[in-house]
Amino acid sequence: MGCLSVDERFKNIDYNIAFIKERIAEAAVKSSRSYGDIDFMAVTKTVEPIFINRAIENGLNLIGENKVQELLSKKPYLNLDKCEANLIGHLQTNKVRQIVGEVSLIESVDSLKLASEISKRSVAKDLVTECLIEVNIGGENSKTGISVGELDEMLCQIAEMPGIKVCGLMTIPPICDNDAELFKYFSKMHKIFIDIKDKKLDNTDISILSMGMSGDYEQAILCGSNHVRIGSAIFGPRLY
Ligand SMILES: *Cc1c(COP(=O)(O)O)cnc(C)c1O
Repeated sequence: MGCLSVDERFKNIDYNIAFIKERIAEAAVKSSRSYGDIDFMAVTKTVEPIFINRAIENGLNLIGENKVQELLSKKPYLNLDKCEANLIGHLQTNKVRQIVGEVSLIESVDSLKLASEISKRSVAKDLVTECLIEVNIGGENSKTGISVGELDEMLCQIAEMPGIKVCGLMTIPPICDNDAELFKYFSKMHKIFIDIKDKKLDNTDISILSMGMSGDYEQAILCGSNHVRIGSAIFGPRLY
């Protein structure tokens, strides 16, 4: 990877995005939707702005970064006129003040404490911050996200908070040996998504189900995802 010229990397990015768009469109049609119903996010962690801008030139209108600092330092170099930026990684409460107002959506709200801090900092800036609740669908100790059992209580509590609006759910499933297992987790998430959407709680406008990454976005879409987060399949392996 390190040996490719900028032009070669541009070509790869163009090719990869065209390829993925087709796969997304096919999976969308198979699940009775169309390409336009699925948000195609480019996950841009570790990627330099010149390559991120290339992805944006290919028509992508959504990027995702994991870290507050990385996002804020790249932002001035990105062509974000027609593109939104979301935070998708774990957010520490002490970074909330910096990120509120700088992203379209925080996808990784994983505690009440964090939601409460986002609420407080948003009110101070006279904003409403849109968020997704990150669900640890596999109940893994190693992962961030709230457990399925905590979700209802969390939504009820957030419904009381000013300055924050829940727009849906995000998840990263456990690493699975086979598609059947993967489908089980994605389908479980979709069912939970439909359930909470039907509840129509205050301060919520549940419309986004964020699941699917480079290795499993087609399966995720088939199970009802409408928002996929794709990094390495666009930009190549990440070099840390
Ligand atoms: C890195 C990351 C992705 C993208 O991962 P790829 O496998 O490179 O597509 C998606 N979501 C989150 C939360 C990530 O941190």
